[in-house]
Amino acid sequence: MSKISIYDEYESVIGVEVHVELNTASKIFCGCSTVFGGDPNTDCCPVCMGLPGTLPVLNDSVVEYAIKAGLATNCDINLYSQMDRKNYFYPDLPKAYQISQNSDPIAVNGHLDVLIDGVVKKIGITRIHMEEDAGKLIHDDTKGTLIDYNRCGVPLIEIVTEPDMRSAEEVKTFLQKLRAIVVYLGITTGKMNEGAFRCDVNLSVRKKGVQTLGTRTEMKNLNSFAFVTKAIEVEMKRQIDVLENGGSIIQETRRWDPAKKASYAMRSKEDAHDYRYFPDPDLMPVILEQEELEQIKDEMPMLPEDYMNILMEKFGLKSTLAEQIIANKSVADFAIETIGKVANTELFGNLITNAVIDDTSIEINASQMIELIDLLDSGKINSGIAKKVFEAMRGTDEMPIQIIDSKDLWPITSVEVLKQIASKVLETNPKIVEDFKAGKTKAKSAYLGLMMKETSGKADPNISDEIFNELINKM
Ligand code: ADP
Ligand code: MG
Ligand code: ZN
Repeated sequence: MSKISIYDEYESVIGVEVHVELNTASKIFCGCSTVFGGDPNTDCCPVCMGLPGTLPVLNDSVVEYAIKAGLATNCDINLYSQMDRKNYFYPDLPKAYQISQNSDPIAVNGHLDVLIDGVVKKIGITRIHMEEDAGKLIHDDTKGTLIDYNRCGVPLIEIVTEPDMRSAEEVKTFLQKLRAIVVYLGITTGKMNEGAFRCDVNLSVRKKGVQTLGTRTEMKNLNSFAFVTKAIEVEMKRQIDVLENGGSIIQETRRWDPAKKASYAMRSKEDAHDYRYFPDPDLMPVILEQEELEQIKDEMPMLPEDYMNILMEKFGLKSTLAEQIIANKSVADFAIETIGKVANTELFGNLITNAVIDDTSIEINASQMIELIDLLDSGKINSGIAKKVFEAMRGTDEMPIQIIDSKDLWPITSVEVLKQIASKVLETNPKIVEDFKAGKTKAKSAYLGLMMKETSGKADPNISDEIFNELINKM
């Protein structure tokens, strides 16, 4: 019998803090642009740099975006909330305090339901608060440490969860769902590589069956799902090793080094009161009227789950396909607009999910798509050709038939032409014939692959198949 690993006796307990950069036109307390990637220190002013004598003015859109995030995550929205000063010095924070929310955040007490191994699990959301981002330190080998203040004052919401997650997989599923929601709300670009959606992971371990929480560590600013997953796995093991060796976990902030796949201690964790929070005297409390809240509720856009329901219930798509479609909002929008007009919804789903990867936009119009699906559905073209046509259509008004004509993409269905090509393929590849005759039926796929190669994907597969059977019998 194999020995049960000591690691299996433990479970990890995880809560996350997610920072979402809002894509409002201007910053949270001034009129500077929030656009990512400007030349260093060109998008900043005395207010966002916190020079003495300046006064912050709260951007209404930030409040609206935060409320939308709260509503989409089933939170209670506080009609009274307040901006607080969180005092600490850091070179990227020239005011030496960050304006955030402490005792009265904009949204509290929400949750998201996520599907873990086919079972719905409720992940509690403790709070959502509004705050400003800090600047960026750039550590340069030759010039020393440089500071770019462009990001100072870019609006953030911080979403804090309950310690309800138990594995890297659960955290990843939760974060993917949360990210999709904020992107669908239109309140952020969600671009993780630009820091627009980044995550602090709080993790403790305990023996399975134990109810009390262990001491947690916090890993800061993980900006990819892969880093989150790896960081959790490594930190869980590290904590178990410490405990098994008779040590104890120190509550601390750790930094994840993706290159080394290891985390190291950054600082022992301040308790909340070390920040000396107090209400920012420069800003009025945020007081909402019920009517304003109702209006925002009325304006809530469709969320990923709404899209899923429509695609599955109305158009009969399988959940796996629907999920792939909603992973990209541009694809999802296109699907909802167009799918009702095409004859074969499954072909449609397959084609757009195969053709569009990542966050690229779709750049195809409905009539182009309808004609393309018709050609595919009626067998006039195969899926390989459809994919080529799809790519060629993107960003143009050209219709599929036009493209197929001009690029000479029509499939080759002439038995005579195909027979000639097939003979040549089999002559130059005697191994295929040999293998097939020896009972290796797979040899036929090699033949079909070569037929496609010889014809740039245009050989009709069914006719090519019949020709193969005919020729091989004569050989
Ligand atoms: P801080 O500002 O100190 O980071 P917060 O209350 O904002 O504190 O965030 C604490 C985060 O840590 C929450 O996501 C919470 O769920 C999580 N957490 C708290 N205690 C534990 C624990 N023992 N194990 C794992 N996660 C924890
Ligand atoms: Mg924290
Ligand atoms: Zn500014």
